[in-house]
Amino acid sequence: MKRVYLDYAATTLVHPEVILAMTPYFSELWGNPSSIHACGLEARSAVEEAREKVAGLIGAHKDEIFFTSGGTEADNCALQGIAFANRARGNHIITSSIEHHAILETCNHLKEQGFSITYLPVDSYGMVDPDEVKKAITSKTILISIMHANNEMGSIQPVPEIGRVAETAGVYFHTDAVQTVGHIPVDVNKLGVDMLSISAHKLYGPKGVGALYIHAGTNIQPLIYGGGQERQMRAGTENVPGIVGLGKAVELAQADMDEEARRISQLRDTLLKSILENVEHTYLNGHPTRRLPNNANVSFEFVEGEAICLNLDLAGICAATGSACSSISMEASHVLLAMGLSPELARSSLRFSFGKWSTEEDVKYVLEKLPASVSRLRSISPLARKSK
Ligand code: PLP
Repeated sequence: MKRVYLDYAATTLVHPEVILAMTPYFSELWGNPSSIHACGLEARSAVEEAREKVAGLIGAHKDEIFFTSGGTEADNCALQGIAFANRARGNHIITSSIEHHAILETCNHLKEQGFSITYLPVDSYGMVDPDEVKKAITSKTILISIMHANNEMGSIQPVPEIGRVAETAGVYFHTDAVQTVGHIPVDVNKLGVDMLSISAHKLYGPKGVGALYIHAGTNIQPLIYGGGQERQMRAGTENVPGIVGLGKAVELAQADMDEEARRISQLRDTLLKSILENVEHTYLNGHPTRRLPNNANVSFEFVEGEAICLNLDLAGICAATGSACSSISMEASHVLLAMGLSPELARSSLRFSFGKWSTEEDVKYVLEKLPASVSRLRSISPLARKSK
């Protein structure tokens, strides 16, 4: 059966050149980077080369990059690391109500440890207001964590403006850039962040590896203790093939980022335009222009997003009802609810996310299958009947 994958925000396939770059580190170059013999030194130099590539992509110094097991660990490390290291200064953390669960659940954990968390609201486009950040700061605030772009509806947050607010107040600022690094320009200096989270599997690298940028001089403590790897910040023998894969993925992303963003956003816009014009009662979720080039999130009133998703799956189309973590639950997305959508409209949403292997043919195929699928489901939907 034909397969059309439009769920690149959940994960990407590993680029063939990334696989090629990683392969020797499973076989002939298998050393432990901490060993001082030749085998270890080969692995060490591969890890350091990858570190330089990651630093180069985001305008950081290589010593400010710490490899992790992915975006979730990077987020945990940033939040818990700052919270516990700066407890004597204060116990207040500011975040937003639309963050990924990697942030929200870490905040829940910190709350149980005695920290106080402010969850900022967003407007109907899913945007955080920098003035609200400013107003929320107290003498006890030690950290602000606001994501760069949202994984569900794609809105890009005013991170540079929030960075200025944080700097003026002397508060650490972290951003979860898992959905932006490798897709749109990310420069830690322009963003004004002290910490930034990265995940390899969102940019054609392998799963289970990521990085945390930590600005030099930041007062942070480790999350994982052990053998002192990653300059005492993240113990554990390095995932050398994974780190090499992240480095290669970053190098490839840098080479064609602008061109890819343009191509992908055109495909996305063709799909969106046709859906919004030709399928009744459909609404775009997220900001119309300040959004990720690959993200289209649409509510199809009177029908469950899950039902459309499963229907499309039968036709070989892979889309999503929200973040991968919540797509098995029928609960309405916390992101769409925070934007003011009713639970019914939030549950009627579907996310299409495009990537490197998306084509015009894919868009045509979706447009062939989707409208019929929505009207079939609406014809049997109690929600649709109630509205008549
Ligand atoms: N943050 C955001 C915004 C994400 O989209 C994801 C993954 O979906 C994560 C964090 C978690 O990253 P990882 O899957 O590498 O743990």
